[in-house]
This record gives sequence, structure tokens and C-alpha cells, in this order.
Amino acid sequence: MNDRTTTASAEPGDDVTVAGWAHEIRDLGGIAFLIVRDKTGKIQVKFEKDAMDDELVETGTEVARESVVSVTGAVEEEERAPTGVEIVPDSVEVIAPADPELPLDPSGKVDAELPTRLDNRTLDLRREEAKAIFEIRAEVLRSAREAFRELGSTEITTPKIVATGTEGGTELFPITYFGQEAFMNQSPQLFKQLMVGSGLERVFEIGPIFRAEEHNTPRHLNEATSIDFESAFIDHEEAMDACEQVVRAAYEGVAANCADQLDTLGYDDFEVPDEAFPRLTYEEAIERINATGELDTQLVWGDDLPTEGEKALGTDVGGHYFVTDWPSEIKPFYIKDYDDETELSTGFDLMAPNMELVSGGQREHRYDQLVEGFEAQGLDPEAFDYYTKMFRYGMPPHAGWAIGGERLVMTMLDLPNIREAVLFPRDRQRLSP
Ligand code: ATP
Ligand code: MG
Repeated sequence: MNDRTTTASAEPGDDVTVAGWAHEIRDLGGIAFLIVRDKTGKIQVKFEKDAMDDELVETGTEVARESVVSVTGAVEEEERAPTGVEIVPDSVEVIAPADPELPLDPSGKVDAELPTRLDNRTLDLRREEAKAIFEIRAEVLRSAREAFRELGSTEITTPKIVATGTEGGTELFPITYFGQEAFMNQSPQLFKQLMVGSGLERVFEIGPIFRAEEHNTPRHLNEATSIDFESAFIDHEEAMDACEQVVRAAYEGVAANCADQLDTLGYDDFEVPDEAFPRLTYEEAIERINATGELDTQLVWGDDLPTEGEKALGTDVGGHYFVTDWPSEIKPFYIKDYDDETELSTGFDLMAPNMELVSGGQREHRYDQLVEGFEAQGLDPEAFDYYTKMFRYGMPPHAGWAIGGERLVMTMLDLPNIREAVLFPRDRQRLSP
């Protein structure tokens, strides 16, 4: 349809063909309106019953809502039309009729429950609000990629079918691979580390991760999008700098390029975080959580931060913040401990601010310590030989992190459920569509 004009670019005086969906039909008796909607907006088509061909009027005013239509005619100025212009049609064609019974109302006038919306995502994304979220998500990924390029990193893609998981354990989905047991990868962690020892040095990946987590929460998915970064010759502090740069770039991209979408979603006060993200040590974090008095029992050194604790601290800090210097025992073995204080880990989390958005750290790059870590974790180092052996051939010190892509969109837009930021969520209830 090369001669198609979008509804937003139809100007008075033009003869146009617009194509889109029959959004609404308003019949006022002698006059009737068909509102045609496309990606760019909506336009009114006017039918004057007495002055126009009967068949034309019938086609345009009796078409079922959400049918795909094409309208050819003259664009005229009309103050009373919602967009200030209307089309006086010469012809109307129903290209793809819709059933009169719709599973949900794309005009948004009738609310639908989330499961109904997810079952009918195509129709759901005809609603401006749902569409806006995914346009913003696309901008988040675009700006992240640009920030990664500014950081001098190379985009990679790594296997999602693997023989062993990153950390082993129950979070793996097993699959059959030509009669052999295999798994869906829970993280590109090991592969991206292997690449910092390659000639690439600094890499990023935006791709799916699979977690067989049993729990069903508003912030967990069984398939998520991980935004991963890993670089040779940086420490955890520099990794946090890079992380902050990418997160900020995502906010800046959305602020600069998604004004209409933010408006649709009702954010008139969307803010790019302006201050550097505070870096609290784990010790400071538990002290501050205890001081809020929100928890029934006081946290002690070595405890993981409970969800209510994270919420209380997030409210207290009021914006993104890092938690650093975790007890080594609660961070994964591949994260390096401080050389001078081995009970402390260089691992860090970024909170946004009421939930975890990022985990990262400097990595253990020394072969002997790495193999010991596998053993201490109860994992068989032999099974990870493809990984550990590369640490014998010159593996530079390195650090990196992973941002949860959906958590980034969720926290940025304050969405009540992470599923709002995924087209087709995978969770305990959903395997289709
Ligand atoms: P959490 O403690 O919140 O379950 P995690 O510590 O298990 O997360 P990591 O393995 O550190 O998660 O993964 C890095 C990031 O990926 C997390 O900070 C989060 O943003 C995102 N992420 C991890 N698991 C999930 C999931 N099941 N659903 C959505 N995002 C996830
Ligand atoms: Mg984590």
C-alpha cells in the first residue's frame, strides 16, 4: 500500500487513502462518523447520508468495530473533529472484517483483566496505553545499546541451550537434546566471562534467560530479558559506573524520545535520575533497614535482605542506590572477594529503589581460587571444564553485571506487575500464547 497516508499526516486539501482499524462508529441520524485508527493516531470519516451513495454509507457505518478498513477521500478542516480534520470519503473498503464479538475492548472503555489481555495480546496492544509500554521498552533497549557502544563494548549472543547451568541448582529447565540431558540457560554469565578473555575484552548481550523459579510474584518471570555487560581490566567500582551510565541512558532516551508515550501513560513528571546513585555497603544497608523499624526481627550480619527490608530501605533512600560489600557467603562463588578482607565480596546490587534491578561484581579470575569456589558450592568443576580451563590461558581481571530488562521498564514506569512489560509472559500459569 504505497499510496497509504497515515492518519497523523493527513492534511486539509489532500486527497488521501488511509488504512487502519474501525475504532468507533457514531451514528447521529442524518450524519455518521467512522473513526479510523492506525499506529499514528485516529481520524474521523464523515458520512452525510442524504448526500452520499447509499452503499458507501452502509459500508462505512455498518462495519464491525476493529475491522481493517481503507478509506479514500478528501481531507477537510473541521474544528469539531477530534483532530481538527476529517475525511469526506469517495470510497470505503473493508479489507479484513472483525467478528462483532471481541474478547476485549481495544478502545479501553471497558477494562479487561490481565489474563484476558495476555490471552489476546494483539487486541490489547491496540490500546494506546499497552502500546506505549512496548514503544518505551524498545527505546530502553535502543538507548542501552547506544550506551554500550559509547562504552566501547561489542554486542554478542551466546547459547541458550547448554549442558550445565551457570550456578547449577533447581532453577534450571531441563530439555532433551538429541537424547542427552540439556538445559535452558539461566544466564550468559559464564559465556560473557569467557569473552573478556578473548580478543573482544568488553562485551554486552541483550537476550533471554530462563529461570525455573517456582514462586509466582509480580516481579518474577520464568523467561526474562537480561541486559548483560562484562569487561576486562575493570574493577567492581568501574562496573558500577558503567551500570549507572546504561541505566541513566535508558531514562534519558525515554525522556527525549517518548514524550507522547509518557503522556499517554499519564506521566507528567517523568524524571531522569539526576544525582549519582548512592553506594551503601551491606553493613550500612542492614543498619538503615533496622533503624526504619519496619521489620519484626532485626537483621544481623550474614542475612540476605528480605523483600520487606528492601522496600523499607528503598523508601528511605528514595531513588536508585547500590548495595556493595556483601558477605562473601551470600554472593555466588564466581564473584571475587576483597583480597584484604576475604569475608567481604565485591558483589553489588542496584536497587530501583524498592526491588533489585541489577546484580554484578568483580569476578574471580584466578584459576585455583575459581576451582575451589566450584567445589565449595558443591558443583563438579569437571562439568565446567570448558569454562575453567580458559582461566589457565591468561584471563584478565574483569567485572560486569546484569540488568533485568523487564524490571528496568517496570521500575521506570512504576508498573504494578512485571507482566505488563512482556508481550507474552512465561510464568507458572502461562505457556501460551
Ligand atoms: P531476585 O533476588 O530478585 O529473584 P536474582 O538475584 O535471583 O533476583 P540475578 O541472578 O542476580 O537475579 O539476575 C540479575 C537480574 O536479572 C536481577 O537483578 C533481576 O533484575 C533480573 N532477574 C533475575 N531473575 C529474574 C526473574 N525470574 N524474572 C525477572 N527478572 C529477573
Ligand atoms: Mg541478584
